[in-house]
Amino acid sequence: MNDQPGDPSKAVQELFRRLIEELGEDPDRQGLRGTPERAAGSLTYLTGGYGADLGALLGDALFEQQYDEMVLVKNVPFYSLCEHHLLPFFGAAHVAYMPRGRVLGLSKIPRVVDVFARRLQLQERMTREIAEALLELTAAKGVAVVVEARHLCMEMRGVEKVGGQTVTSCMLGIFRSDPRTRGEFLNLIGR
Ligand code: ZN
Repeated sequence: MNDQPGDPSKAVQELFRRLIEELGEDPDRQGLRGTPERAAGSLTYLTGGYGADLGALLGDALFEQQYDEMVLVKNVPFYSLCEHHLLPFFGAAHVAYMPRGRVLGLSKIPRVVDVFARRLQLQERMTREIAEALLELTAAKGVAVVVEARHLCMEMRGVEKVGGQTVTSCMLGIFRSDPRTRGEFLNLIGR
């Protein structure tokens, strides 16, 4: 994506080349020749959330609308990198909000999830950041986010058995203060 002169991805490519050497490999052997470039490109993509401007991303997708029932988007897939091991954690986010005269185009919710997933992250912090950003952008009465994820840093290193799910949640506004609203949300996502 970013490849103008002076762009960090050239530096990142060089770092991957050095890393491959340090791991005891030959970065010039045929199979690895393009690897620093590809790895730099994919890491740049997977951390592209840092540069995102949420306001610009959503500006034209906020509509004035008198709708005051819960809006829920279930099973938004996401892929992130744990900040402790730089290994993937991935799964699904369930996102709900209770509008206050303003609704967000539904297709934008996965975009918001991506902005926070494409960073070096902790699942707990990502969950909270998604919820707080949506609350701020929509001025909703409340936002609820539940994230279910597998962490390859635990599975590949044998810390946890394969397929174990880590669940985090963040309830803001009415989802925090009103047990019925929270219960309805949890029920709708099957928890
Ligand atoms: Zn980790």
